Amino acid sequence: MDKYKEIGLRLTPQRMAILSFLDGNKEHPSAEEIYREVSKRFPHMSFATVYNNLEALKSRGAILELNIDPGRRRYDPETGYHHHLVCEKCKKIIDINANFDLNLTDDQKDGFLIHGNRIEFYGLCMECRSGNGDQMKSIGSIENIE
Ligand SMILES: [Zn+2]
Ligand SMILES: [Zn+2]
Repeated sequence: MDKYKEIGLRLTPQRMAILSFLDGNKEHPSAEEIYREVSKRFPHMSFATVYNNLEALKSRGAILELNIDPGRRRYDPETGYHHHLVCEKCKKIIDINANFDLNLTDDQKDGFLIHGNRIEFYGLCMECRSGNGDQMKSIGSIENIE
């Protein structure tokens, strides 16, 4: 959490709660999921407050907003260079840490000075490929009980 002290934002208890939920979180949660989690500790916090805090953290570069999932903003605490695998069915997003050597021709660059790229690979995850993504989840929870 120390790294967030550098971002020049006052770390209110609400912001700390949002950051501690996001820190190391690989699920790329949506604003709604973050709200649900944080409101367990701050039941009076509104969705708008959570959302405004996410915007503030995003504008300081502390988190990334992903526009992968139509209609839902998803957030990524991993702000370093990485790519994503995206399941089109269950909307699972998985990190890919690889350096793809992609080059644009000068024509394609259109005068841009390129700083990087972020690639999304779309498809179906293992659970969704086998056609029983939802079923797998319920089997999983039954196993946990036993
Ligand atoms: Zn899936
Ligand atoms: Zn990611």
